[in-house]
Amino acid sequence: MEKLPPDTIVGIDLGTTNSCAAVATGGGQVKLIPHKGGEYTIPSIFAIDDKGHELIGHDAKRQWQLNPRNTLYATKRLIGRSPKDGIVETVQRSVQYRLHGGEHNDVELDCHGRTFQVQDVAAKILAKIRDVASDHLGFKVRRAVVTVPAYFTDRQRQGVKEAGRLIDLEVVRIINEPTAASLAYGIGRKLDERVLVYDLGGGTFDVSIIEIRDRVFEVKATGGDIFLGGIDFDDAVIRHVLEDFEKKHGIDLTGDPVAMQRVRDLAERTKIDLSARTEAPFSIPFITMTPQGQPLNMDLRFTRTLLEELTRGLVQRTLDIVEQVMAEARVERKDLDEVMLVGGQTRMPFVQQTLTHYFKKPPSKGVHPDEAVAIGAALYAWSLQDNSDLKLQLLDVIPMAIGLEAAGGAMHVVLPRNAPIPNAKALAATSSADNQSELMVRIFQGDRPDTSRNELLGEFVFGGVRPARAGSVRLEILFEVSIEGILTVSASDLDTGRQMKTTLRVTQS
Ligand code: AMP
Repeated sequence: MEKLPPDTIVGIDLGTTNSCAAVATGGGQVKLIPHKGGEYTIPSIFAIDDKGHELIGHDAKRQWQLNPRNTLYATKRLIGRSPKDGIVETVQRSVQYRLHGGEHNDVELDCHGRTFQVQDVAAKILAKIRDVASDHLGFKVRRAVVTVPAYFTDRQRQGVKEAGRLIDLEVVRIINEPTAASLAYGIGRKLDERVLVYDLGGGTFDVSIIEIRDRVFEVKATGGDIFLGGIDFDDAVIRHVLEDFEKKHGIDLTGDPVAMQRVRDLAERTKIDLSARTEAPFSIPFITMTPQGQPLNMDLRFTRTLLEELTRGLVQRTLDIVEQVMAEARVERKDLDEVMLVGGQTRMPFVQQTLTHYFKKPPSKGVHPDEAVAIGAALYAWSLQDNSDLKLQLLDVIPMAIGLEAAGGAMHVVLPRNAPIPNAKALAATSSADNQSELMVRIFQGDRPDTSRNELLGEFVFGGVRPARAGSVRLEILFEVSIEGILTVSASDLDTGRQMKTTLRVTQS
């Protein structure tokens, strides 16, 4: 590969289950960056072994079965999330490591007697990808475009930026995964199309409707679920085999982390096998012992039909979201030129058949489902470089409403879901007490009518309000959302124009 300048920006697809990096070489040709073993993806897994060594990627995955308590995986779904709405309990049910609510309205993870914030783990994985890329490119990579699910909140995006800061990697731009995939599909093809990107990865589901007019990529609407992905398909298999085992032997394996990890591993492998064939054995020798000390095997046959029955509800959930996003973009099935599949789980024939049936045409084969996101990120990175001749216009949207808490905890929406970004909106507020010196607003993101069910982005305190009678100071609160979907809030005195001092009381991490 030709030598690239050391300030080259790489594209990173930081996935829930696998991550991948790519770089544009001169002229906008994109190359995926291989790992030592020649593979392009790195498992997004972090572990600490019994000797206290930190392991990341393939090394972490290799020892996963034997060290399930200290192997952290699928943590991306937890970045920037508060530990409410039963998130901790829900996730705890499907992972063998321990998690709990942290001090900063976040989720923390336990590993080998240490406690990690989710962005620490993201930072370790990012560092691994950065190091692999640096080894390959021959210079230390310092700048990257990183992709996130379109359905990530501001706080989750901040979490990814923070992960970059922790390892001195400048996250030059965050872009949405489906948008990145559409760049991989559309750049250089002089298109005039409306596409629907159906992105079902390891942990998250996103759908975006994007209009491509040559080099203008305009997202019309987006939606998704950050708790719907391949892992949930694995969980459906796991539930079935555990029930079967309990029925046959009267033994519940859920309390045995090593057995559970073996089941999880085989569940995923069987699910993947069943994309290529219609039947597969599900056998694990010596999974446990009877109370009398006799070894027991797990032994059943799985069919594609059974897998489809077990996961039909999950696929239906994705279709419900597709319908909702189409309604919001005001498009009908016939208005879509292409349906693009992204994410490993879209290889499942049932997913493809369901979509073919629904859209009355087969999905496009225009992009590689595992690589499109990293390639799109690299192309976008190239467009941001000084020496680039690729000029792109990306117009995206916010996935969920942003608003503030009104009386009684109601959500007062400032920017509605699917509002185009970048965007800014001003809101007037008045002082409510005599000589009030501070004004506090609590800002939330989410589509629920009451703030308690949305994500708290922060408690903003505006200080230095001029002393005056109640109601006589008029403030303007300005909400600005960047192209990355990141919010900045500021306030000024409408009469004097003076900027208020802004403090964020609930930190982002
Ligand atoms: P991604 O995040 O895009 O790498 O997607 C990873 C998810 O895709 C994991 O849950 C995998 O189990 C799943 N996956 C990968 N290949 C296949 C396949 N051939 N059939 C079904 N699922 C797959």
